[in-house]
Amino acid sequence: MKKIKGVKISPGVVSGPVFYFERVKISVPGHFIGDEDFDSEIERFNTAVQKSKDELTQVRDLVLDHLDEEHARIIDVQLLAIQDEDMIKAVRELMLREKKNVTWAYFEVMDNYEKLLLKTYSKFFKERTSDLKDIKKRVIHHLSPKKDILQPEILEPSIIIAEKVSPSDLIHIDHKLMLGIITRYGGVDSHAGILARAFRVPYISNIEVIDELASCKEIILDADNGTILLDFTDDIKASYKSRIRDFRRHRGKIISGKVANSTKDGTPYHIYINAGFVDEVKAMDPALIQGIGLFRTEFLCIERNSIPGEDEQFKAYRNVLKKMKGLPVVFRVFDFGRDKLLAMLDIELLQEDHLFDEWGGIGFLLDNPAILKAQLRALLRASVYGNTQIMLPLVMFDEEVILTKNMLEAIKMELRKAGIPFSDNIKLGAMIETSSVLDELDELAKHVDFFSIGTNDLALYLIGSGRALDLTKNYYHPKIFQAIDKIVKAGKKAGIPVDVCGEMASDPYALIGLTALGIRSISVSSSALTAVSDEVSKLDVKKCSELADTILSTDNALAIYSILKKFHQDNLE
Ligand code: PEP
Ligand code: MG
Repeated sequence: MKKIKGVKISPGVVSGPVFYFERVKISVPGHFIGDEDFDSEIERFNTAVQKSKDELTQVRDLVLDHLDEEHARIIDVQLLAIQDEDMIKAVRELMLREKKNVTWAYFEVMDNYEKLLLKTYSKFFKERTSDLKDIKKRVIHHLSPKKDILQPEILEPSIIIAEKVSPSDLIHIDHKLMLGIITRYGGVDSHAGILARAFRVPYISNIEVIDELASCKEIILDADNGTILLDFTDDIKASYKSRIRDFRRHRGKIISGKVANSTKDGTPYHIYINAGFVDEVKAMDPALIQGIGLFRTEFLCIERNSIPGEDEQFKAYRNVLKKMKGLPVVFRVFDFGRDKLLAMLDIELLQEDHLFDEWGGIGFLLDNPAILKAQLRALLRASVYGNTQIMLPLVMFDEEVILTKNMLEAIKMELRKAGIPFSDNIKLGAMIETSSVLDELDELAKHVDFFSIGTNDLALYLIGSGRALDLTKNYYHPKIFQAIDKIVKAGKKAGIPVDVCGEMASDPYALIGLTALGIRSISVSSSALTAVSDEVSKLDVKKCSELADTILSTDNALAIYSILKKFHQDNLE
């Protein structure tokens, strides 16, 4: 038997065959159509081309606003190619000749173009194949029912093996076929990791031997312990049987009892849930939980590859609020930072350039007021269906909050005039997750009702490591704890609550440190909820608080880690 160690990204235990995931490998099934279906198929095709054109125009405007003409030209090329007369003629001819569906015909025609370009000696033409791939994906996305989108040819439920996976891969692969995930690259805080936890798919990364795994017939993925087993005996497999069965059985359940609302010594403690999909919220039982502390609205965009309009957003927010039956729901306005925006734009050429690494948050939305306005209108309209709160991501300056509040007031006036009801009791919060805002906390606190600490990005800003890497050790970095101390004190001074919604809060050792510094409210992914609830109910707040000075005066992450681990062993195990 061989055991391989990796970094645990999402818990769970599964066994099964492997599937080596390559993005380009997508299947588009062909089937015969009758003459009477020809016109409706062409109609579908025209609509899909038009929708793709609209999306690309939206992307082009964004790129032009934030980058330059040169990059906007990439989109221009795609806009031209997507409506190319010869290509449209070729699709019609192939459909007529073979009497097959339009999705299949379009895929075949585009595939042939790609092959032709690859045969040329020109670097310029070879590079255009990326454009064709992007266009093809976009049009087929609009031609296919949701589940067919760019699905790789996974024939049976399998453990996905890949160099890396993007948030949009995770959304578009059929979840019934995705038993688990193993990648070479990818971190705990990466958005793909966040999604894997939301979907309850066991996931391990930092695995060097991807190729070796790809040739295995069957493996055991024990993500709880960060290990992969290969070449195992029947006895070993049998020893895992009950854990695998339990995982499968409880996978759909978020929590079986009530979430803890106080620590061992009776100190009140809030544990909320991080979510990003309406379906995820549907699985939650409002009688057992306390509410949603972070709803990542941008995931609604990744799901459909574009920004939904006001009405579609309104319906999504209303569904979430109705399901939560009056429990608080903190909707974070779109945070198109980094891989989240890239996943949505779905333009391979732009992704390779890492052009959008620093682009996101409320600053981006204020630069694109039409997007922000539609979202705030949708949120205000939905607010009458529950306890709505709004949160702004990646705040850098207090002016950003002031400008957003002005916009909110203007929208309220519009709604009042139009006789559209909204709640007048919506709390507005700022995410504290950039280094620049740490110097503005007192000023900022005057304009918001709460602070929420985004430790995933805060670690990125303060320590500088990429989110796609393993960030576990960053949770214990002295700079993070010092920043948290500063934020908690600023919140206390201003009399506003401070919570933590980054992944750090679900780490049992880091949780002790957060509690020591005065945190009494956290928001964690649904897959971590049961474990975190258990940990909180074992905490003794007074004892934790005695650690505060030691944590703040220790100047290296490893030493802080050891202190917290020892405390955990002595008091909670
Ligand atoms: C964070 O940065 O900690 C956070 C909660 O937001 P996201 O992970 O969506 O950037
Ligand atoms: Mg963030």
